[in-house]
Amino acid sequence: MNKVCSNCRQEKNVTEFYAPKRPHCKGCERTSARQRMMTPENRLRTAFRGAKRTAEKHSTYDDLTLDDVRYVFAISDGKCAYCGKHDPDNLHLEHIAPLSRNGHNTLSNITTSCPACNLAKRTEAILTYISTNSFDANLINVLIDKMAYRADVDRNEIIDLLRMQQDDYRWEDNEDYIRRYANGDQANTERGRDAIS
Ligand SMILES: [Zn+2]
Ligand SMILES: [Zn+2]
Repeated sequence: MNKVCSNCRQEKNVTEFYAPKRPHCKGCERTSARQRMMTPENRLRTAFRGAKRTAEKHSTYDDLTLDDVRYVFAISDGKCAYCGKHDPDNLHLEHIAPLSRNGHNTLSNITTSCPACNLAKRTEAILTYISTNSFDANLINVLIDKMAYRADVDRNEIIDLLRMQQDDYRWEDNEDYIRRYANGDQANTERGRDAIS
């Protein structure tokens, strides 16, 4: 016997419903239960645990606490630190220097970003992306001030650090490119070239 789910409007077998009188199918009920679970606090915890795991995987310095993550999300005002988009339900915990490139899992290296900026930046240096239209140079300046404040150093030291990171990453990408080229891996070589342009 079939029945139509009043949420997804699909006709499904009654076994696809938890009880005959329930209007929504099992799939729809599970999805909404999951969404109810995703409170801001739960999202924070998930992001925090994910960052801990990634830091361990890359053996990078890690002293991040859950309170650090709460603090950064609280002062973000629900906004992306790179483009300023207000997107509180989808903000990512962003590592300014990526963990995969030995960036530290620590308060002065984290901020919030929207999924689009996170995707655009990938594992690149922040300075490489200031010129792209999605990133707002004024906001990057604010971010630099925050990093300096949290690390208790002058903002020029942070700028020097970011410049060094940019040079390091370019150098690494170049090395990567040359190595792949030597191996004759043409497909990956093309991608490598894109990454360093
Ligand atoms: Zn359904
Ligand atoms: Zn953004």
